[in-house]
Amino acid sequence: MVFEIKYRDLMARIGQIKTKSGSFQTPALLPVIDPKNQIIPPNTMKKEFKCEAIITNAFLIKKNFYEQAKKEGLHNFLNFPGPIMTDSGAYQLLVYGEVDISSEEVIKVQEEINTDIAIILDIPSSVDATYSEVENGVKQTIKNAEDSQTQRTRDDILWVGPVQGGVYLDLVKYCAREVGKLDFDLHAIGSVTQLMERYQFEKLVDLVMAAKQNLPLQRPVHLFGAGHPMMFSLAVAMGIDTFDSAAYSLYARNNRYLTPTGTVRLEELKYDICVCPVCRENSPQEVLEKPQKEREALLARHNLYVSLMEVQIIRQSILEGTLWELLELRARSHPYLLEALRRLGEYSDVLEIFTPTTKPHAIFYCGPETLKRPEVTRHLKKLETFPQPEETDTLLILLEPKTKPFHKSKEHSEIIKIIKNLPEDYQKKIQIATKSTIFGLIPLELEEVYPLSQHINLKPDPITLQHTTKVITRYLKTHNYRKVIIQLAPPEEDTFELIRKACSEKNIDLHVIRVEEESNLKKNLEDLQKLLTEATQCEK
Ligand SMILES: [Zn+2]
Repeated sequence: MVFEIKYRDLMARIGQIKTKSGSFQTPALLPVIDPKNQIIPPNTMKKEFKCEAIITNAFLIKKNFYEQAKKEGLHNFLNFPGPIMTDSGAYQLLVYGEVDISSEEVIKVQEEINTDIAIILDIPSSVDATYSEVENGVKQTIKNAEDSQTQRTRDDILWVGPVQGGVYLDLVKYCAREVGKLDFDLHAIGSVTQLMERYQFEKLVDLVMAAKQNLPLQRPVHLFGAGHPMMFSLAVAMGIDTFDSAAYSLYARNNRYLTPTGTVRLEELKYDICVCPVCRENSPQEVLEKPQKEREALLARHNLYVSLMEVQIIRQSILEGTLWELLELRARSHPYLLEALRRLGEYSDVLEIFTPTTKPHAIFYCGPETLKRPEVTRHLKKLETFPQPEETDTLLILLEPKTKPFHKSKEHSEIIKIIKNLPEDYQKKIQIATKSTIFGLIPLELEEVYPLSQHINLKPDPITLQHTTKVITRYLKTHNYRKVIIQLAPPEEDTFELIRKACSEKNIDLHVIRVEEESNLKKNLEDLQKLLTEATQCEK
């Protein structure tokens, strides 16, 4: 098996990709090596930066170093003993309009220089291209992919089937389905560099999700040209296993200093904000004063350290099951990233399929985006079909206490005691549920299912109150209760009208117990006892 998956969170996976030159761990950042200008030598990347795999351009090698690379083999030529991926030259096609190499030649070159992971010639498109231009590129890419099946002669190389389609999602889906049917070991998603340069992360989410949902799930997926570390976690969360980046060196050229949350111009950097080996030895001022070549090399090294560190943080988050929290953190780096996370939240039902059902950690409420995390979506699905025994006709909705599980809280255990004192026939009629800031409504029977007792929430705010109300209303619509007894705290008054309306539409008898902050617990319990006795007795 080429790809072995070990851990998952959202659509992300920690795994191993096996090549003829060894395995490497995913998610992985493959630094782009420019064969003509090796600002950080590949060997240094392996030894000092612990990069397990790199990517270089087959087209540039063919153009400049063909005979040497053929004779020595790519690994000796670049002095890198581990897995090497080669890009076909498609990017040059986008930048310069055309490359003087056929798709068959691209395959031959990659076989001859002995690459480990080869990409067939695909036709990328600009974000400004028309539908028919992109459509032609997609058709040509699919044709090249089909032809490659018989053109390639080596089985020890992993072959990558690229997906194109740009911002036209129907073309992306079509291309993914067609290329996915063919015999490839990996897939790659292209035409995203411009989206990332323009910070159009929301469009990136739609494009990657369109491709991912139409590609074979077990094959690793590469993202061409994922530039800035601040969006790595977003890409990985969508199931991107490998990505290449030239940003470490491109940014260095213009004195741009990468951080996991943005970019700083070296001239503006007055403090040592990083502890990488470069920054430990050189202050920003010292780097700035170095001659151009030296400064560029130092900055490239810092940029690569920061990028690789971000990959490690992402891996740790997958392992801990906290990748969504990391997305929420990174989304605060830039408004367009926040927009992208919100868009990803719209795919929550897809993410839910791949997210583990239990995790070693509690879930944190970090903001409105938390309400879109797959664990919440999973609970809401469960709530839709939560079975209601025939004899149950009264829904008792309690306020959310601080203690979890709720039934062990002082407030709820008193109430449960009252119910247990009712005649057995009456007890059976009552369904207990608790309002929840994150999960909307939690029936007592589900309280100990992960993460319904393993989450940390804040006091309700207007957004969570609206969410809770929506969930309760939906629950009332999908179930059949004759009576609802609900505890209501003052901040909930504003959204309560919706629940009242839902009850009146279904002819549900609604009883409200107002719980003020200063409320007398004993008095409240007496009210509740009275209501419960009345509610369950009036049938008889
Ligand atoms: Zn640094």
